[in-house]
Amino acid sequence: MGRSPKVPIRFDEKRALEVFKQLDELWGTREVTNNIFTGVILPQDMYPAPADRLECALWFFYLALTQRGGIISESPFQLLSFVKKECPELFIPEAVVKDWNGEKVGKYLQGALDRAFPQRNEGLHRDIPKREGYKLDELGNSWFHNSRSLCMGGWEGNPLNVYAFCRDFEEAFSRIDSDRNPDRGFLGMRRKIFSLYTIWLQERGLVRHFATPIPVDFHAMRLLWALGIIDLSRLAKPFQPKPGRHPETIKGFPAAHVTERFVDTITKWTQIFLFENQIKHMHVNPALWVLSREFCAEHVQNWSQGGKKELTFIDPKELQDPGGWPKNYKNPCGLCPVERLCTRAIPAAPYYIWGLLMHVNDRVQYPIMRFPELEGWGMREYKPRKNSRGNGNEANRSKKDRKVGPPNGGTDEAVVSHRLPYED
Ligand code: SF4
Repeated sequence: MGRSPKVPIRFDEKRALEVFKQLDELWGTREVTNNIFTGVILPQDMYPAPADRLECALWFFYLALTQRGGIISESPFQLLSFVKKECPELFIPEAVVKDWNGEKVGKYLQGALDRAFPQRNEGLHRDIPKREGYKLDELGNSWFHNSRSLCMGGWEGNPLNVYAFCRDFEEAFSRIDSDRNPDRGFLGMRRKIFSLYTIWLQERGLVRHFATPIPVDFHAMRLLWALGIIDLSRLAKPFQPKPGRHPETIKGFPAAHVTERFVDTITKWTQIFLFENQIKHMHVNPALWVLSREFCAEHVQNWSQGGKKELTFIDPKELQDPGGWPKNYKNPCGLCPVERLCTRAIPAAPYYIWGLLMHVNDRVQYPIMRFPELEGWGMREYKPRKNSRGNGNEANRSKKDRKVGPPNGGTDEAVVSHRLPYED
């Protein structure tokens, strides 16, 4: 066990090295070998980014503000692509400061949402009806505030200036942290969002690849805990539901409240650890995200039902009997490169509903031997899921769903497009 920073999280660095090295390698070689990450297209690559350096930096600057709350990561890319065509001045901070205010931006975005997605139940944008997930009033305020910071905070309207002569991510963050710099900092950009933004710029060669953490979102936290890289034994206590706020059904499961300090502790550790071990954050970050969102989300023990009033999970005793598993279960863990280290089921629902990282049971290994390549399983048969995380349920599937067919709907997050990795 290694460093023990402010909140009592302990890190198993030996295990972290084993996992991160493997993910670094798999992500780094995904274009030259067939592995589970081959062909994955990340949200930031789905829509064309401007070729001009400043325009590109501003495009991602405003996009980064949307990457929070209960929405599918890809949806805001389409919304903002629409906005960029309809109202390009919103991506020019000087124009925003001159002619707009926070309320006006929020109201405009509200109308743009309606115009961009007239058929709001379709495809990637199935979460659009849950417009509260976008928090458009907050987005409007931070859009305007941050435009003003860019113009009047000494950044000359160019977010790339934030990174001038920076030694690492923490230094860059200290410059824009709105707590420390109320007049020139950025709202809605804590470490998670700002590290995501930084990585997008690094991917396009606009910012140097200095020491950078992974954005610590639910997926990173789930995997780090499931794989035993973080030890939360001093934080995660048997959960005591509050009457009227939590259902009794989640009583007793070890759970930790995810606070900003909690996230920051993990964030700072990943920056130092990855840099010291020369492991690429640009590889580990998407690998963790895709693995959790696309694979862990399909693990039967991470499905839930009942919603916030009576949230329940499958009883692991049912899984002791091979007949207790869903019919035609696809066993995502069978393709997982780190299955041997994974011990915990950590569903998304408690996190998206109550901000709880909750270990509902130890992971049960699928008892039936499968040979995915021979059977042509892999991503070839992968079906994009239909619901969003907006309802707080990673897989708010009915009992019937669990028993009668392969998972094909209702997880917390949405679609990552895939080319088929097992094709010749
Ligand atoms: S074994 Fe399954 S649940 Fe565990 S990390 Fe891999 S895909 Fe996720």
